Amino acid sequence: MIYMDHSATSPVDPEVFKAMEPYFVNSYGNASTLYSLGREARKAMEESRKMVASLIRAKPDEIIFTSGGTESDNIAIKGIAYRLRDKGNHIITSNIEHPAVDETCKYLENNGFKVTYLPAGEDGIINTNDLEEAIIDKTILITIMHANNEIGTIQPIKEIGAIAREKKIVFHTDAVQSVGKIPVNVDDLNVDMLSLSAHKLYGPKGVGALYIKKGVRVEPIIHGGGHEKGIRPGTENVAGIVGLGKACQIAEENLYETAQYVASIRDEIIKKVLEQIEKSYLNGHPTNRLPNNINFRFTGIEGESLVLHLDAKGIASSTGSACSSKKLEPSHVLMALGLKEVDAHGSLRLTLGKENKKEEIDYIVDSIKNAVETLRQLSPLWCQVKE
Ligand SMILES: *Cc1c(COP(=O)(O)O)cnc(C)c1O
Repeated sequence: MIYMDHSATSPVDPEVFKAMEPYFVNSYGNASTLYSLGREARKAMEESRKMVASLIRAKPDEIIFTSGGTESDNIAIKGIAYRLRDKGNHIITSNIEHPAVDETCKYLENNGFKVTYLPAGEDGIINTNDLEEAIIDKTILITIMHANNEIGTIQPIKEIGAIAREKKIVFHTDAVQSVGKIPVNVDDLNVDMLSLSAHKLYGPKGVGALYIKKGVRVEPIIHGGGHEKGIRPGTENVAGIVGLGKACQIAEENLYETAQYVASIRDEIIKKVLEQIEKSYLNGHPTNRLPNNINFRFTGIEGESLVLHLDAKGIASSTGSACSSKKLEPSHVLMALGLKEVDAHGSLRLTLGKENKKEEIDYIVDSIKNAVETLRQLSPLWCQVKE
């Protein structure tokens, strides 16, 4: 099988798996206990904290371990909303966020908060002038993703962060898709909070982290024992945390080489598909995107059928996002770019990883081409286009 859905999840790197194993079987202690078995677990956790911090250039005590990207987003957004509700009730986000941010904002909207959804342009990028205009006295939080999970577009986070800092508004970014794929430096990006998730960077599912800049305070949304400074109580997922740390360490060591390698495959697939298939387009910004993201649009066909055709050829791909693919509505991200509903339905996302091979490119392009041709022959829509 050729796996090209790394933005949905990635395989666990064998080295990550190896690093985790002892913490299930031998060093299974509770990291909050005093005897050596527990201290061993605690030590491994703190080593991981350093590795996560190092990848995003934070300090270890600014890292809170969580159960993943969704929880990190929830803690950041609700945590600030509840903490600062006396100061204001206005939140600014974008209209292309992951559901973990989008639905959290909608929940707060139903509970007394006001939310502004900044529109992404046709290229998927937020306009910082729109942001400046949206800020009011009551704005307490700006949350805008670093890189989009569907179209890979990278937002001007540094500029957004500078605006937030000048206005003294807390700034959170969902960096689940960018961490481990492009350089992420929390100081350089001017962020106060940043979410990341292990399973998007060759670590295990069910573990992630939230960076909280020193001095920024959030109201806990989960209550219990005092783990993770009381911000995320609950017995720590030691093996998972060790896996996250190892995944971050590997990502940091190979960041530039992996990005370059993956981008070279990406660019060749894009070039060949756009050349060889008529009425094919690339969604999102042509260059300002993650090195591993491709999002095509083919007039007259349906993304889901294309994914199934490619699956039959041994290629794992997706349409819209994994989270919305069970719904029949078109992706809210593609609709936000101003696409017509029929066009938004004809999208194909290929997200590459370090184990993809150059030798696979022609097979992939041919498979897409054949599938698109077959589907178009069956498509009444395509007949209309051709007439
Ligand atoms: C996958 C993803 C999440 C959710 O992370 P989980 O660890 O699966 O909860 C959040 N935001 C973005 C941008 C994602 O791609």
